[in-house]
Amino acid sequence: MARLTMKFGGTSVGSSAAIRQVAAIIGDHLAQGHELAIVVSAMAGVTDMLLESASAAAAGGKNRYVAINAAIAEKHHAVIDALIASETAREATHYLVDELLQGQLELCEAVRILGEATPRIADALVSYGERLSSRVITAVLAADGLRAQQVDSSEFVVTDNVFQNADPLWDETESRIVDRLLPEIENGVTPIITGFIGATPDGTLTTLGRGGSDFSAAIFAACLDSDELVIWTDVDGVMTTDPRLDERARVLPYVSYQEIGELAFYGAKVLHPKTVQPIISRDIPLRVRNTFNPTLAGTVVGSRAHASETVIKAVTGIRDVSMLTVSGPGMLGVPGIAGRTFLATANAGASILMISQASSEQSFCFTVVDLLAQSVKEAVEAELRREILHNDIDSVDVLSDIVIITVVGSGMRGTPGVAGRVFSLLGDHRINVLAIAQGSSECSISFIVAEADLERAVGELHTLALETAENDRVNGMASPY
Ligand code: ASP
Ligand code: MG
Repeated sequence: MARLTMKFGGTSVGSSAAIRQVAAIIGDHLAQGHELAIVVSAMAGVTDMLLESASAAAAGGKNRYVAINAAIAEKHHAVIDALIASETAREATHYLVDELLQGQLELCEAVRILGEATPRIADALVSYGERLSSRVITAVLAADGLRAQQVDSSEFVVTDNVFQNADPLWDETESRIVDRLLPEIENGVTPIITGFIGATPDGTLTTLGRGGSDFSAAIFAACLDSDELVIWTDVDGVMTTDPRLDERARVLPYVSYQEIGELAFYGAKVLHPKTVQPIISRDIPLRVRNTFNPTLAGTVVGSRAHASETVIKAVTGIRDVSMLTVSGPGMLGVPGIAGRTFLATANAGASILMISQASSEQSFCFTVVDLLAQSVKEAVEAELRREILHNDIDSVDVLSDIVIITVVGSGMRGTPGVAGRVFSLLGDHRINVLAIAQGSSECSISFIVAEADLERAVGELHTLALETAENDRVNGMASPY
């Protein structure tokens, strides 16, 4: 018997058929004698609809938000009708949904009158997605005879007041979960918890950011001291690369916490980047599994970093980025140019994905998303106006048709020759590398190539990752607890 925290994402709870599948998975695990805490997302699409209702209301678009409210109602009522046989239970659940959505409509009214949806009100509005899905799923499980109980995570996850991107206050959160939720679970109750939502100490609703239910689940897994955190999603696991870039892509049996962090950052959108943060220190393994293919073991994420023969686990490519180069003869030995450039970039609202400078100090380059490249260029040029005027710095160049490729593998720490192998391979295939960066975590190497070379470069490097996946499979790295 194990204590598991399981999270079901938006697609996994996105239709009656999907929810039927979720109920079967939960029922199976309970039948095996496991203790469960379940965290759920909003039904697929509902969070976007709620955000749209907020902006429609702020713009005075009453017809629009009324229509959205009705569409959300319809989605949930359809699930209730399909999955709950008893008429009394069905009526009671329809009523719960209508009552909540009445509140959502009133909030939209308030936003329309104010003419503005502040981040605080947007959080309150968007919270309805998980509040609805958790209630409907609980009713479905209860109809199956399971002792499920709906739980609003705002009662447990205490956060700061950074609306739309809140972080938990750990001590208070943990003591609430341990004191009030754990005993219920030990009594055989299965809580069905809203993902994504928290509340400030004075009870104002917050959210943990888009995709934040993964993070919610990790918070509960950590505070409940679960044996495993299972993220049920709609893919088979973490892949060696994006199957759209190379059809040989396959599921990795095992990746380390560090590797998944790099992968989440560099474009493999399987998990919210904060997900591993709560579980690392307690060494709780995480498993990514497919709700629609539940016989597969998925990918295990844990603390073991190991050097296998090829050490490269995965290859990712990020498109839609631009490289900005600041160069000039007068930069040598002048402190502060990079600092001012990066500050100007931040002030233009862009985050930097990769930085590289050669020690000649004649130039450095960095990448931002395409969308912001022009405004970053202008901001940096304005900041360095004086240096440009004195010809100490040439202008700031923008190169747009480029991509960032990242190879990830924590086994490269202390393993000589990995970078050599990566770049020889590219050289052998005549792929030109424009810039290179390796973090001191030594867990990934990123570099920039022309967009036209993306598929070829990923394909070649991916061959190395496929070897690692095969080795890990043979060595049994995926064996669960
Ligand atoms: N429903 C939220 C979102 O779509 C949180 C989540 O699903 O993780 O962003
Ligand atoms: Mg997600």
